[in-house]
Amino acid sequence: MPKMPLGVLLSVGEDLAERLKRIYAAGFPTMQLVSPPTEWLADPKRTELKGLIEDSSIRVTSVAAVYEGESYAHVAAVRSTVGLLPEETRASRIEDTKRCADFGADVAAPNISSHIGYIPEDRADPIYCALVAAVQEICDYLHRRRMNFCLETGQESAGLLKQFISNVSRENLKVNFDPANMIMYGTGDPIDAVELLAEWVRGVHCKDGVWPKAEGQLGEERPLGQGEVGVERFLAKLKQIGYEGPLTIEREIPGEQQMQDFLAGKKLLEDMKAKLEID
Ligand code: MG
Repeated sequence: MPKMPLGVLLSVGEDLAERLKRIYAAGFPTMQLVSPPTEWLADPKRTELKGLIEDSSIRVTSVAAVYEGESYAHVAAVRSTVGLLPEETRASRIEDTKRCADFGADVAAPNISSHIGYIPEDRADPIYCALVAAVQEICDYLHRRRMNFCLETGQESAGLLKQFISNVSRENLKVNFDPANMIMYGTGDPIDAVELLAEWVRGVHCKDGVWPKAEGQLGEERPLGQGEVGVERFLAKLKQIGYEGPLTIEREIPGEQQMQDFLAGKKLLEDMKAKLEID
């Protein structure tokens, strides 16, 4: 396997078989999967899904746990709906994450990743303590399956995330680094952030975006190479910190345009890998 093999982030739906064929034909050796909707987690669809993934010959590097009822429309919506932050859904989402891990184990995924929501800055905040306990419970469940739990970056600064990882104190707590999120949430320069988090990075989302235009808003996502990440400097930094894991193209739009943007992103990343002598 070459260094930094390319992949895409795919959701599970009725057209998955067709999309897997196109992704494999395009030459992607890896993928991350968004956690399957509930109906795909019970037989007969679970067995069908597992078969599709095995037949695709594409390696699943992570399953991204997403939860019902989440909204990424603006900062307040993220704060009240995303991840393990909302108290009323925390316990059920911990169980959802465990079910996601069981599915991940079925398809030999080494990592489960997730946005857990805005981590409070104050370590004495009861929500901070509740998030630490929730993530410890998930990590301990995953540890029994020899899997990592990867925190998706963006909703807090790299410094705060590093402190949180230290407080959770679990060997299998890692990071899925998304440079565009750092920009879209306005939480810091992704190059500095990835350097600070280097030892924990097990996955990378190749996504682009622009900084927010107003307080309370999120920046917009853009096709790879058309935002403010600076893809070449990002790859150069990944090489410098010794990262050799997958580069997973994420594009938060559905349909044919997503596929076209995956293909354009692949060309861009291949050209830059060649230029930076990453192989
Ligand atoms: Mg992402």
